[in-house]
This record gives sequence, structure tokens and C-alpha cells, in this order.
Amino acid sequence: MARIFAVANQKGGVGKTTTTVNLAAALAAHEQRVLLVDLDPQGNATMGSGVDKRAVEATVYHVLLGLKPLKDARVRSEHGGYDVLAANRDLAGAEVELVGLDNREKRLKDEMATVDADYDFILIDCPPSLSMLTLNGLCGAHGVIIPMQCEYYALEGLSDLVNTIKQVHAKLNRDLKIIGLLRVMFDPRSTLSQQVSDQLEAHFGDKVFKAVIPRNVRLAEAPSHGLPGVVFDKAAKGSQAYLAFATEMIERIKSI
Ligand code: ATP
Ligand code: MG
Repeated sequence: MARIFAVANQKGGVGKTTTTVNLAAALAAHEQRVLLVDLDPQGNATMGSGVDKRAVEATVYHVLLGLKPLKDARVRSEHGGYDVLAANRDLAGAEVELVGLDNREKRLKDEMATVDADYDFILIDCPPSLSMLTLNGLCGAHGVIIPMQCEYYALEGLSDLVNTIKQVHAKLNRDLKIIGLLRVMFDPRSTLSQQVSDQLEAHFGDKVFKAVIPRNVRLAEAPSHGLPGVVFDKAAKGSQAYLAFATEMIERIKSI
């Protein structure tokens, strides 16, 4: 059975896509069968996986609206070693089009169930909002991975996200839990980063992943080559941190 994780944080630019793409590639490097679902109309996870979002025939939009089954819409990230359900601008319209449809929060969940046996992990890259798209991600997932930067306002936004996850858990998806908080773009020389990181550990305990992703320019450069960072430059500090994170995830799912 596939373990399904949504990578979510309604704050923009906190490293959701970088985390989803690199975790997918790092898990694939550990011989895991992985599907990455891009749930963001920006299509960054699609492009970062080396899939041209303008050239794909079918995307998550078609899947959500019932126009194409997931098994026919997925494509391969050749360099990443995993499958991708792509997204592009079409998806921006889905929000409105879903409103009139039955079971609108659970459409992705139902489609993922049809390919469950093909994967060990399904990773969902959520957009920076608590929208119907993110709701589809949260309804279909067993858990949420929350990437966050260790800065002052990070904690403030976190309570909104935690409340949303609690509500989805109560009303729509009893399986949903926070798997963990992942510290990303970490700068060990910054006192504030260290303080926020300590606060996170004090407050969330072992929900904070041990792996810490440093700020690393190689991770930022990789998408322009259509490659996950861990494939583009495996030896880079950021890539090594994501590989360690993948090992931690494989361990952590044994206990959930
Ligand atoms: P959005 O909310 O727009 O979807 P996001 O949360 O998915 O954004 P990313 O796109 O992953 O965030 O990252 C934002 C920017 O920060 C990107 O330019 C990315 O390359 C860069 N970035 C992410 N992680 C790191 C890192 N560890 N080191 C350096 N740059 C990083
Ligand atoms: Mg993103």
C-alpha cells in the first residue's frame, strides 16, 4: 500500500516544491516506487522533475475533473526515477469548476486509490493556500510534511495550518496526521534561526524531523536544468540533507 504525504504550508516560497521534488528523487534513489502529484497551477514541481508543463497531454486538472484516469495521465521523470502527475495553468480553473461537482474534496483521493498498488510513496506538492486544491491533497493523504524556514513569522502561520489539519482530521479524513516539521533553508550562523529551531523542538518535540536542510545554492540552481537537486549535484550539502531526510522518512513510516 502506498503511503501518501501532502507537503503543505500556506506560506509562499518556504520550500514545499524543493522538498517534494528532492524527497521524491531521494526515495527513488533508495529503490522506492514514487509518484509525485503536482497540485499547484505554477507547475514548478513538474518542471523541476524535468517534465515540460506546456507539452503534457493530461494533467492533474483532467484527473480532478474526471476527464482522464490517473493511470493514463501520469508521466515519467526520467532523471528523477519517479512518476509525475503534472500540473500547469489549467489547474487554476479547477477551483471554480470543482464547486458544482459531487465529492469535490475527495476526487484526488479516489483517483490515487486506483494506482495505490503501483507505489510505495505518493507525494503531493500543495499550492501556497488553504484552497480546494490543498483540501484535496489533505483529504487524500495519510500525513502532512510541513517545510518551514526558521524565521520569526514562521510560527505565526503555523497555527493556521495546524488548525486546518485538525479540522480536516475531524470532518473529512480521520487518517490525517502531521508527520513532521522539516527545517529548510537553514542558516546555522543565524542566531534567530537557531532560536526558532529550538522553540520548534520545545513545542513540537519529535514531530520535528532530525534532518535539517541547509540553504544551498545548488538546490536552487537544479530546477533550471530540469533536475532534482539530489540528481543535479548529489554531493552538495543540500542534496545530502535531502537524502538523509528520505532515510528518516523510510524509518518513520514504520512506526505510523
Ligand atoms: P510556492 O509557495 O510558490 O509554491 P514553495 O514553498 O514551493 O513556493 P520553493 O519553490 O521550493 O518554495 O522554494 C522557493 C525558492 O527558494 C526557490 O527559488 C527555491 O529554489 C529556493 N530554495 C528552496 N529551498 C532552498 C534551499 N535549501 N537552499 C537554497 N534555496 C532554496
Ligand atoms: Mg511550490
